[in-house]
Amino acid sequence: MHDEILHQDILQMMCHNPTFCISSLKTVCLLKAFVSMKTKRCWNVKPSKIAANTVNPIRSIVDNLHINPNPDKKVISLSIGDPTTFGNLQPCPEITAAVIDSVTSLEFNGYAPSTGYRKAREAVVEYASRPEAPLEPEDVILTSGCSHALEMCILGLANPGQNIVIPRPGFSIYKTIAQSMDIETKYYDLLPNLGWQVDLAHLESQIDSQTAAIIINNPSNPCGSVFSKRHLMALVEVANRNCVPIIADEIYEDFVFRGEVFHPIATLSTHVPILSCGGLTKKILVPGWRMGWILIHDRQGIFGKEVRSGLQALSQRIIGSNTLVQGALPSILRDTPETFFEDNIETVQRNANLAYSILNDVPGLCPVMPKGAMYMMVGIQKTSFPKFKHDMDFVECLMSQQSVFCLPGCCFDYPNYFRIVLTVPEEMMIEACDRIKEFCTNHYTLNTPTSSFNTEMLLKTQMPLQV
Ligand SMILES: *Cc1c(COP(=O)(O)O)cnc(C)c1O
Repeated sequence: MHDEILHQDILQMMCHNPTFCISSLKTVCLLKAFVSMKTKRCWNVKPSKIAANTVNPIRSIVDNLHINPNPDKKVISLSIGDPTTFGNLQPCPEITAAVIDSVTSLEFNGYAPSTGYRKAREAVVEYASRPEAPLEPEDVILTSGCSHALEMCILGLANPGQNIVIPRPGFSIYKTIAQSMDIETKYYDLLPNLGWQVDLAHLESQIDSQTAAIIINNPSNPCGSVFSKRHLMALVEVANRNCVPIIADEIYEDFVFRGEVFHPIATLSTHVPILSCGGLTKKILVPGWRMGWILIHDRQGIFGKEVRSGLQALSQRIIGSNTLVQGALPSILRDTPETFFEDNIETVQRNANLAYSILNDVPGLCPVMPKGAMYMMVGIQKTSFPKFKHDMDFVECLMSQQSVFCLPGCCFDYPNYFRIVLTVPEEMMIEACDRIKEFCTNHYTLNTPTSSFNTEMLLKTQMPLQV
């Protein structure tokens, strides 16, 4: 730029000034060198603060683990929360046919509105609307997976310096999103001895004047818990008393074992404004399709126009979810046979029963039987395994001796536990649990002073302190 200007200046001087001499040319050249010296900058390209502050705790913990399997045993990974990994759980032909039709129709190749095609949003309304929590197409925002929905809700409600209150143990993405934007995270405890119900008093104590939202994940990853209607009502009441909106992560909606009932939290609240996040990911078994949604429940108009326009504005950053799946959405939500869902749940429930029956007999372990979703948390009685300093030691050693890999509880901010996934093929589930049993039997240390306590008491005393 500067060079260009200088050249033009010299030419102009030569044209307009006949006395322009060599020495003035020299001066100009010196000047030119000086200017280019001044403008020559050093490269200094760094990642932004947002990028640098974006940390996925699971990745950073797993990357730092020493994962060296026993070469004599085939690796079984019980760590991956992706139901498609092993090929035993697949979308049914009705679902794949809907996408093929969407592709060949050539109708869904353009830009959709940033919140999604109206037809696709109407299909979500038809699917998700309940008499106690009615929805209109304007209440639905389609997103690129449920993670995107959660990100929009958190950024849509919280400013830097404010906080969101999240479950512990809990799914790590809430913290990842919040921390990158300088939104503080506070935790409320879930109680393993009460089927991972929320410690309501603890939840309430965490809420302050800067709390922008409470995140509730039901059914839960990593716990596999399903809240009763009564408990959900109690949670709504805490939010109501403190005038804090709820972000409900309901990606496992309806994924509950036989005899359990899923209640959308929005059906239990007439006053608290709720953003419910969901999608096809887990229910239809297609994480890669990136189809999620936000359902805006705001019967008292507390979010009002402003929060709605805020979410609408945020939807324009990415321009929504992919259009081919939007084209298939009405058919997927209408035509997927009930038996598809029932079969998937049965597969996971059978695995849960198998894993529980094996692990519950293992000295030093305390599995918590799930009621839904795709996971089980297993408590490690610390005093029974004095050799292992923490859950990371435990899972590392389990991998090196038995080639079974599980995520340590610290990935969910909950030490002294590990999480197993229940979506693996049955033989693999049994083999993995048998190996965990062998491992624990080999390392179990009888601990006389505390052996008179029952295991529940022990787990209670090991629970992380409330901070
Ligand atoms: C899998 C999962 C999600 C994210 O789902 P995507 O649609 O793949 O973004 C959100 N919340 C919980 C609790 C999950 O387990």
